[in-house]
Amino acid sequence: MKRATQLIHGGPTVDLQTGALGVPIYQISTYRQTSVDHFSKYDYARGDNPTREALEDTIAVLENGTRCLAFASGMAAISTTLMIFSPGDHLVVCDDVYGGAYRVLSTIFSRMGITSTFVDATDLTAIEAAIRPETKGIYLETPSNPLLKVTDLRGAAAIARRHSIITLVDNTFMTPYLQRPLDLDCDIVLHSGTKFINGHSDVLCGFAVVKDKELGQRIRYIQNAFGTGLGPQDSFLTLRGVKTLKVRMDQSQHNTLKIVEWLKQHPRVTAVHYPGLPEHPGYAIHNAQADGPGAVFSFELDSYEATKRLLENTHLAAFAVSLGGVESIISYPAKMSHASVPKEERERKGITDTLVRLSVGLEDPDDLIADLQQAIG
Ligand SMILES: *Cc1c(COP(=O)(O)O)cnc(C)c1O
Repeated sequence: MKRATQLIHGGPTVDLQTGALGVPIYQISTYRQTSVDHFSKYDYARGDNPTREALEDTIAVLENGTRCLAFASGMAAISTTLMIFSPGDHLVVCDDVYGGAYRVLSTIFSRMGITSTFVDATDLTAIEAAIRPETKGIYLETPSNPLLKVTDLRGAAAIARRHSIITLVDNTFMTPYLQRPLDLDCDIVLHSGTKFINGHSDVLCGFAVVKDKELGQRIRYIQNAFGTGLGPQDSFLTLRGVKTLKVRMDQSQHNTLKIVEWLKQHPRVTAVHYPGLPEHPGYAIHNAQADGPGAVFSFELDSYEATKRLLENTHLAAFAVSLGGVESIISYPAKMSHASVPKEERERKGITDTLVRLSVGLEDPDDLIADLQQAIG
């Protein structure tokens, strides 16, 4: 089955009881049992809910995994999955990891004795050099947020194999439509489904997807124990959103290329970071592991005044956090996604006060360009 068909027919599409063309919202917390000795598969909705399961099965197929677990948010997926590690374990993490992941790792998991070393993951030798005897995992994001740096996933996974540790990849920016890390020998794929997968800026959700069944059972055990699973209403909305993932990604990506080309020749724009540009340092690696550059990029302006003017005067692209919706979203990493990263650390990583990130939606690209033009001035 090709991707477009998988999106529509990959998971359960029909309610077997009624023939309804979709899995209904099972807005139920508990299930009646008939035998004292054998409880049925469904006993309590913290563990199992048919609507959530339909969504999980769909995402598992899209990522070429054996199992997907759906969570109440991307951070619920990330935090719950990280609980597979134990005190004394160490992780090697890309230094431009999502701000929320940086926060849980550096302030909460560190307190539990699970430590992290943050490295420039575009450099495989830096990843390998940070591995210690107690290292249990490599945690990556590619292209990364907000500078769109590219990590060689096959290369990183090969390092992990050599050291008998696992690779975790946050695949939010790409979605399974454009990149499938499990096929590149990575072990766990994480998602904020809040972004492109749901795609309509109206649900928070997250996923963890694996190929290895035992690993899937371990994450599932923690999901049930912690109660971090996704509710039925949000599962339903996300199932509805994911059906149009291909057409949304294709169009947003098309729009992005047009806007990027325009920005590149704008006199106030000093840099554009997008893996779809041949001059991007990760261009070749990205093309070897993904089917497209996606619909998020960042760029830098020549002054703070111009940056502020742009952010406060765009009408079409909403000045907001988040990304991946049908509407374009312009954001300011220094004060939004990376606000919890200390300033010196942030500047060292290149997340300056003149860096702007744009997530391109489904508006006409000419209108978006005209709007950016008037806002930059
Ligand atoms: C938004 C985001 C998250 C966190 O997801 P939530 O659904 O907001 O909890 C994690 N990783 C990346 C790359 C994100 O963009």
